Amino acid sequence: MEHKPKLAVSACLLGKKVRYNGDAAEFRALTRKWNGHFELMGVCPEVGIGMGTPRPTIRLVNNGESIRLVNPKNGDDFTSPMLEYAQIQADALVESGICGFVFKKDSPSCGLERVKVYREGHEQATRDGRGMFAKVFTTLYPHIPVIEEGRLTDARQAEHYLARVHFFSLWYQEGLKGWTAKAIIEFHNVNKLFLLSRSPDAKRRLGRLIAEGFDNGNRPETVALAYMTEAQKSLNVLTKSGPIAHAMESVLGKLSSNLSKDERQEMLEIIHDFRQGLLPRSAPLTLLQHHLRRCHIDTPIHQRFLSPIPLSLGLMARV
Ligand code: SF4
Repeated sequence: MEHKPKLAVSACLLGKKVRYNGDAAEFRALTRKWNGHFELMGVCPEVGIGMGTPRPTIRLVNNGESIRLVNPKNGDDFTSPMLEYAQIQADALVESGICGFVFKKDSPSCGLERVKVYREGHEQATRDGRGMFAKVFTTLYPHIPVIEEGRLTDARQAEHYLARVHFFSLWYQEGLKGWTAKAIIEFHNVNKLFLLSRSPDAKRRLGRLIAEGFDNGNRPETVALAYMTEAQKSLNVLTKSGPIAHAMESVLGKLSSNLSKDERQEMLEIIHDFRQGLLPRSAPLTLLQHHLRRCHIDTPIHQRFLSPIPLSLGLMARV
């Protein structure tokens, strides 16, 4: 049976009626399309600290010394319970084996970026904050891929994020067996083409990080954690078609001696058309897949690059 990565999600996005006004904010791509591929775990930090539903709205307020989470109507301050809850809940989620977290945008608790921060005693806000729960989570666990649901409405962003989650999930599964130096090097090797296609510098940087980690006498699990932290930092930027086309050409290079001149030319033209935005990514990937199978030179390295997410997620035809 296919392993389903665990994905933590702001509970309102799963259709739970936990928002301040008693509503939900269901994100249907998650609940109706991708739910078969992930084990979705809803988390509502505001309900978690006992605020109940419905409840008064709260906001981030900068009092000149720190950013607080308060009810602007009566000044009730929820900063301490939220910080305490966030640490305990983040630890519990990571302990349970989550491979990513989808946060609700704009929320003073869950938003990842551009959340409103008010100056104390004023109604003007700057959009440069991070929800208090999300901030604690990402600070404690920077190796776990996170995103806001707003970005997932774009197919390229969604494909890239879910590829990061699957990459993390493979790393997590490997870690359950116990990290060794050999396992880390093998993991990096199997994923090198995937990394090259998503963040060209990351492959070299991560190779160096592994070598330095062991030169410094670090334990394998420490090196593995530093590896995933750096990898997810690099993968946080959406990939462009150029590096992906470059990785396709690298696969073609391995195939070349098995292809006729016409077949090679055809492949080059399709990759070129993808690079120019004239064809979807699936066109050259499908043809490369076909040639690799026909020539019996399919390897895990190629598969990690060619199939970074399950086809049935329905995203590959849209990128
Ligand atoms: S945004 Fe976060 S805190 Fe607000 S209702 Fe959704 S899960 Fe709860």
